[in-house]
Amino acid sequence: MDERIILNQIKEIKNQSVALQKNISRALDDSILAVLDLIEVGHENGSILDQEKCVKEVLDDLSYHSIFLAELQKLENKNTIDNKDVQKFKEIINKNKLNYDNASDIIKYGDSQKYKEFKTQVWEITNPGEPMPSIFEEDEDEDIIIASSTVGFKCPLTTMYLVEPMTSKKCNHNYSKSSITEFLRRETKPCPVTGCGASVSMSDLYENKILDNRVQRHLRVKRQKELKKYTMLK
Ligand SMILES: [Zn+2]
Repeated sequence: MDERIILNQIKEIKNQSVALQKNISRALDDSILAVLDLIEVGHENGSILDQEKCVKEVLDDLSYHSIFLAELQKLENKNTIDNKDVQKFKEIINKNKLNYDNASDIIKYGDSQKYKEFKTQVWEITNPGEPMPSIFEEDEDEDIIIASSTVGFKCPLTTMYLVEPMTSKKCNHNYSKSSITEFLRRETKPCPVTGCGASVSMSDLYENKILDNRVQRHLRVKRQKELKKYTMLK
């Protein structure tokens, strides 16, 4: 095949893959929120594991896309491409996928904020008020436990509960959408969390629907408790 045609095809496939990845990521948010609702309504432990499997499968799909895109990028960066490269590309993809499938949970999902957020919320629903154990069995690093259980519900700018939370991809800090938009405008600024120092711009932020869900539940539970206290006083 003509090299130019191959390169054009690579570009085309890459664009499609990136678009698909975005859609899967959105679907992941929706499935996490749906699963959390189901768990909140009340399900026994067996079905929580089933639900978790669904979430993991979507995360796996996302990782397969990343593997594919990384190799595609390498192929594109080569000076010359022939059919042999394309064949080799397929082999590498299969090998990397297999390596991924055989990896431990902490390797597969340890970097996923969404997965951590999901696990944290499942714990909060099923064991309210109890300290959360580490998410991954093989994980003995206590920092990770502390980090996941102390995610604040308040915006560093307004010091109020997060409203339409946005999260920085650079440092994973969260802010209310309107206040961070106002704060950054179109510039790049240091993250407003004291001691963070990461430089953040609007393009580093994403809307964190899953965290929004967590804040809403926290407020719901808080209101219920207050209501109970009030009716007991009466
Ligand atoms: Zn930060």
